Amino acid sequence: MNIAAKPASIAAEAAAILDRLGVETSAYTGGDLKSFSPITGEQTGSLKTVSTAEATAIIDRADAAFRIWRLVPAPKRGELVRLFGEELRAAKADLGRLVSIEAGKIPSEGLGEVQEMIDICDFAVGLSRQLYGLTIATERPGHRMMETWHPLGVIGIISAFNFPVAVWAWNAALALVCGNSVVWKPSEKTPLTALASQAILERALKRFGDAPEGLAQVLIGDRTVGEVLVDHAKVPLVSATGSTRMGREVGPRLAKRFARAILELGGNNGGIVCPSADLDMALRAIAFGAMGTAGQRCTTLRRLFVHDSVYDQLVPRLKKAYASVSVGNPLDGGALVGPLIDKLAFDNMQKALSEAKAHGGTVHGGERVDTGSADAYYVKPALVEMPAHTGPVLEETFAPILYVLKYSDFDGVLADHNAVGAGLSSSIFTLNMREAERFLAADGSDCGIANVNIGTSGAEIGGAFGGEKETGGGRESGSDAWKAYMRRATNTVNYSTSLPLAQGVSFDIE
Ligand code: NAD
Repeated sequence: MNIAAKPASIAAEAAAILDRLGVETSAYTGGDLKSFSPITGEQTGSLKTVSTAEATAIIDRADAAFRIWRLVPAPKRGELVRLFGEELRAAKADLGRLVSIEAGKIPSEGLGEVQEMIDICDFAVGLSRQLYGLTIATERPGHRMMETWHPLGVIGIISAFNFPVAVWAWNAALALVCGNSVVWKPSEKTPLTALASQAILERALKRFGDAPEGLAQVLIGDRTVGEVLVDHAKVPLVSATGSTRMGREVGPRLAKRFARAILELGGNNGGIVCPSADLDMALRAIAFGAMGTAGQRCTTLRRLFVHDSVYDQLVPRLKKAYASVSVGNPLDGGALVGPLIDKLAFDNMQKALSEAKAHGGTVHGGERVDTGSADAYYVKPALVEMPAHTGPVLEETFAPILYVLKYSDFDGVLADHNAVGAGLSSSIFTLNMREAERFLAADGSDCGIANVNIGTSGAEIGGAFGGEKETGGGRESGSDAWKAYMRRATNTVNYSTSLPLAQGVSFDIE
């Protein structure tokens, strides 16, 4: 166990990074919204929250920018995103470090998050030449039917603390090549990385030259600022990432004004270890999936179902890995598990562990780790052997808790696997083709992500990302997720000399 020394000043390091990235000191000092580093609990900034009137004006400006940007040819729009990718490459070390400072991620995960931003830029640049629709057979002679895709408008982006920059980039890169403007309300727990990301985009905008003013803007503030975005009539799509609680509030408000929603909400991800599983591989995948990012990924593995024939081989090894994993200051480079984001996360974890005990669970780990800072919340990841799929197992607790359950029957375990509200990510470890295919089939995993011999977390940007049920149903990132950021028009053109009506309808007037 690493007991980390408190660094001289994390705030000073954050300030130096922000300075290098071109963020003015006035942008993060003297305001009402305090930002902290979970690594020590130290305050890193105080930002000014935008008022409702300011937020409204920003959205209006974004709408004006959209009206210009939508007429710029898509490959030229892609050029802006190409430049953004270049700037991100140049700023990767600094932004990755700031992600570690603000979200508490270990260095490789902080850098990995920026790599995702770079990857989505590459994807979006290619996409800027592929925003095509179908040509469809028409039943009428001398006609042509096709679909065209048009820019949508101002895209509102609301993001969570645990992927403070990548989620914005997933949305912004696609939205921009699709001809939209973007307004981003980052998590109030990670506003500095938002300022830094925006500054990096501003560099690309400057090099691009003639993009309209207000094309990409940030709204600093808490949920009340997010609500302005959600309710504004000039925002036709809000892509909101966060808890299912947030989605329950945001979803109906958007529906009320018939706006589109991409909801990327909580996960309660399950993994199944079958009798034929490669246990060495499963062990590593489970360890990263459950303990990585201190259990604070939407795709974190939270429920593990192990076949009773391999339980006694796998679970003791897992317990050993849990007992020996290094917990501590992620900036020191030696730890694999960094801090929880704040006290609330710690309290929620302890509450879930108490409930698990009340439901007959045996808890290994879960204690607070002293790093010498009263305001930082480090914990030993918890492995909880549960007698049944009940109680806190059914809910997402955003902390490193892995519930382990024994199973004997494949149909039964599939039923338990799917018997939770969330439907984000899932995986199966098996070398049995029938089990693997069944897991991926219509009556298998009900999640938006279903993997074989890979853990639940760490998705690539090339696939569409998102989940079903209480995860919200949204998709972003790769595949054809771009379609949500555009409006589709079906066009029928008559180049004949007559006017046949569809379905053989006749309507002859004198
Ligand atoms: P959160 O729901 O507390 O906050 C997320 C964002 O929503 C913040 O920016 C917040 O200000 C805003 N918000 C909250 N209520 C709002 C409202 N009524 N109107 C407008 N905006 C509102 O979530 P968090 O604690 O930052 O993040 C952790 C949660 O996010 C977990 O549940 C995790 O699973 C989920 N998450 C999901 C995904 C995904 O892609 N499915 C990705 C990352 C995180």
